[in-house]
Amino acid sequence: MRAVALLVALSLSLIASAQDEILTLFPEGIPCANEHTMEIVERADIGRVVSKVHNPTLAVYRPDPARANGTAVVICPGGGYTILAYDWEGTRMAEWFNTLGVTAFVLKNRLPRWESEDCRHKVALLDAQRAMRLVRMKADEYGIDPQRIGVMGFSAGGHLASTLSTHFDAGDPNASQSVDRENCRPDFSILMYPVISMDPAFGHMGSRTNLIGENPSEEMIEHFSNEKQITEETPPAILIHASDDKAVPVKNSIVYYEALLENNVSAAMHIYEEGGHGFSFGEGRGAVAGWRKVCEDWMSEQGFLTPRLQALIIDGQNNHKNWPETTPILKNHLLNTGLFMVDVATTPAAGADMSSFNPDFSKYDLVVSNYNGDPWPVKTQRAFEDFVANGGGFVSVHAANNAFPNWKGYNEMIGLGGWNGRTEKDGPYVYYNDAGEEVIDDSPGKGGHHGDVHSFTIQVRDSVHPIMAGLPTTWLHTDDELYDQLRGPARNLHVLATAYNDPSIRGTDRHEPMLMTIHYGLGRVFHTTLGHLNESQLCQGFATTFQRGAEWAATGSVTQPVPEKFPGKKETMMVEK
Ligand code: ZN
Repeated sequence: MRAVALLVALSLSLIASAQDEILTLFPEGIPCANEHTMEIVERADIGRVVSKVHNPTLAVYRPDPARANGTAVVICPGGGYTILAYDWEGTRMAEWFNTLGVTAFVLKNRLPRWESEDCRHKVALLDAQRAMRLVRMKADEYGIDPQRIGVMGFSAGGHLASTLSTHFDAGDPNASQSVDRENCRPDFSILMYPVISMDPAFGHMGSRTNLIGENPSEEMIEHFSNEKQITEETPPAILIHASDDKAVPVKNSIVYYEALLENNVSAAMHIYEEGGHGFSFGEGRGAVAGWRKVCEDWMSEQGFLTPRLQALIIDGQNNHKNWPETTPILKNHLLNTGLFMVDVATTPAAGADMSSFNPDFSKYDLVVSNYNGDPWPVKTQRAFEDFVANGGGFVSVHAANNAFPNWKGYNEMIGLGGWNGRTEKDGPYVYYNDAGEEVIDDSPGKGGHHGDVHSFTIQVRDSVHPIMAGLPTTWLHTDDELYDQLRGPARNLHVLATAYNDPSIRGTDRHEPMLMTIHYGLGRVFHTTLGHLNESQLCQGFATTFQRGAEWAATGSVTQPVPEKFPGKKETMMVEK
């Protein structure tokens, strides 16, 4: 017992240097709790070996922020459901993932071998499901994309990882713990010499007995034979195994791989001739030592190592009191592209001291303004001008073009603006006539007006531009304000789409610009005048043009496909939840 205590102390000193933080999985109380005291033994060859886990945890390993790509992996070490090879198949994997820019979480799950008859088949999966939900709930905090969280497992930990991959749920919306409302489906799995099947012909009998006992029912065998639980919803997987594995026959990987293919799930498998079992990195065991490169290439091909574009939404003041609702809508539109990570910067309230508002724009590829309020500090204005002039992307949404009437650089970025005293001193009107010609109109008058909220037709004026390519040439936009009589410097301004402003609803009888691009220095600006109501922003036409405009502003090109469902000439269409 004294030896164990000494080793625990030694391990704790190691813990402090490597990982960032330990998360307790069930702070509210552990389901199926046991009475054990955890034991940790330090082995010269494989490091810490953990058994009799009482309190399941996740150890957090964060990559260098400059390399972080938004992907995360929960790692399940192996050990026959009796022990955990915690360093050999856990912490060293986490450190490797960090070098790829991946955030890693080493799971210390409870072990069926030490559990009661009632709990032995439940505890490991309970812990893995909770771990996945917890990582997803904390995605924002850790800079993780909630759609790029995978699971990795070794041997019996591979059984746990494949069990999670085939026994997940979308979360319980009525759960008392907010973490239990999260989805626990992994987005991918990496299965290392995994136990897959409970079939006695090729399953690993030690793991099987620990998990479901000496005389399991047929139902139990079937339930935990994961090759029989695969559906089209099972996440894509890569399996790594060696033909000469004497402990877990390679057939475990093969049956899982075949079932994935039968269900049209993307799958890769790499079987080495030699390597044996439990090889971890495989150093000194021949070709198998190359598996990490194979795995990295697979993750790369799946898109899991591609850095996300970084976007910042600015809000905090707006004459549109629904801004706290529209910011999450805009954020979701960006996240749903799968291209962006999104931060939000909220200014002080109207009239409050603005001097502290100074976001670090240089961290971002894109800034989206959902802001119409007090001037920013001059220093912040200059920093924003530098950001866009040096190639940063900017998207102005609806009333953001009302903001900052006296900030010259900002008005050059948005091209056209309205209200707040804008007149001919600020630049011409820009609109289209019935002949389809762009009109630059210097006549005097106020800038900015709209008629009643109504549904109107968007007419594309440039169907070749990357933002518009492939979209219908006209579509019906849902209820919104149709901004008219905007005026501004209009330099380097290109109109992508207009809407006819019917005099019968207090309109101008002109075709007013709705979607525009502006070049400001090296930077690209996408300007959408649309988006008055929450519903206006939930129109599929708004969402698609906003998403494509955001990508174009951030990168200069558009890779997003045109959605299959899009508003028609006579029917609006809302974004599907
Ligand atoms: Zn409005």
